[in-house]
Amino acid sequence: MALPKRRHSKTRRDKRRTHWKLSKPGSSTCPHCGNPKLPHRACPSCGYYKGAEITTPWVK
Ligand SMILES: [Zn+2]
Repeated sequence: MALPKRRHSKTRRDKRRTHWKLSKPGSSTCPHCGNPKLPHRACPSCGYYKGAEITTPWVK
């Protein structure tokens, strides 16, 4: 196995990690009540999904 001859500097390590960030979770708005909700999930505030499907809102 090849080994690195020199240890990379902290600056070089930190420069590499400038691209290293979390991506925001996807979000969409409920067409029924307009509140923000996760995509492909029933709306937590009104319990609607795909128009008229009714589920119990489990988060208040
Ligand atoms: Zn809603």
